Amino acid sequence: MIDPFGRTVSYLRVSVTDRCDFRCTYCMAENMTFLPKKDLLTLEELNRLCSAFISKGVRKIRLTGGEPLVRKNIMFLVRELGRHVHSGALDELTVTTNGSQLARHADELYDCGVRRINVSLDTLDPAKFKAITRWGDFSKVMEGIDAAQKAGLKIKLNAVALKDLNADEIPEMIRFAHGRGMDLTVIETMPMGEIEEDRTDHYLPLSELRADLEGEFTLADIPYKTGGPARYVEVKETGGRLGFITPMTHNFCESCNRVRLTCTGTLYMCLGQNDAADLRTALRASESDEYLYAAIDEAISRKPKGHDFIIDRQHRKPAVARHMSVTGG
Ligand code: SAM
Repeated sequence: MIDPFGRTVSYLRVSVTDRCDFRCTYCMAENMTFLPKKDLLTLEELNRLCSAFISKGVRKIRLTGGEPLVRKNIMFLVRELGRHVHSGALDELTVTTNGSQLARHADELYDCGVRRINVSLDTLDPAKFKAITRWGDFSKVMEGIDAAQKAGLKIKLNAVALKDLNADEIPEMIRFAHGRGMDLTVIETMPMGEIEEDRTDHYLPLSELRADLEGEFTLADIPYKTGGPARYVEVKETGGRLGFITPMTHNFCESCNRVRLTCTGTLYMCLGQNDAADLRTALRASESDEYLYAAIDEAISRKPKGHDFIIDRQHRKPAVARHMSVTGG
């Protein structure tokens, strides 16, 4: 699949549920209204959609959400998609999780063909963890990380960098992650969906964070790539990798290779734009995939050049109304 700007689309991110067992302050409001369960595609339908994308050239699938591991029977989908990894049709099947349910799923994830996962973790301080996630239990996430490493899964930690909340902890998180053989990626907070606070209060441009870190560490740019938008440095003192995802200060749209499917069958061609395509109608129109292929082609022909997020006190409204949990972070 090639979009109008000549970019090959080979990466599908799937938000398998918009529900989550955490309520991270920068992501969601505490009293979220989620989609009625009847609007969700079944796991069989999601499998069929993903398989259609694989037939059309997708080589990497990431399951995300919401929290993917809270969707009932999610391992059915993981196992079905894992068959494409085993057959060689898919290079990688991976998951982004908050880690809360990881301890009980880690072995099975590995067995299904998952080799690398991203675990979102913004702090190593249990009290701060509670304040940021509202509902999360830090010890459960640590158990999840332990279990995943024991199962043989490679972990990358993702931390949203938040001014006055966790920015001062990033050096400790670097040492923790690298000490346990994990990469760490820091992310700028994006204006997606209404939350109870003003995101400007905690927005931290990563250029600032990098300058601070350079007071303590030697950071060397490296060409390492995982197929995602992070730009990596090697931290000389630890020998580990640190990634920067900078949707705000430096968009990475020129190399965008991905589209995002929601649990209702809506395809977003860009995280930061509202335009979308309805694949559910095409999916349900026929048992053969021909309508679906046509709907996917039509959607790819509308993939926009890029996004343009702005976060400042003049722009009080989020750039896109939907929360990250809908499109899948
Ligand atoms: N529940 C899973 C998790 O915690 O990783 C997957 C979904 S979550 C929406 C994916 C990632 O998006 C998490 O790392 C989260 O911190 C991040 N995220 C959520 N809202 C964000 C925002 N407004 N700006 C930047 N990152 C955000």
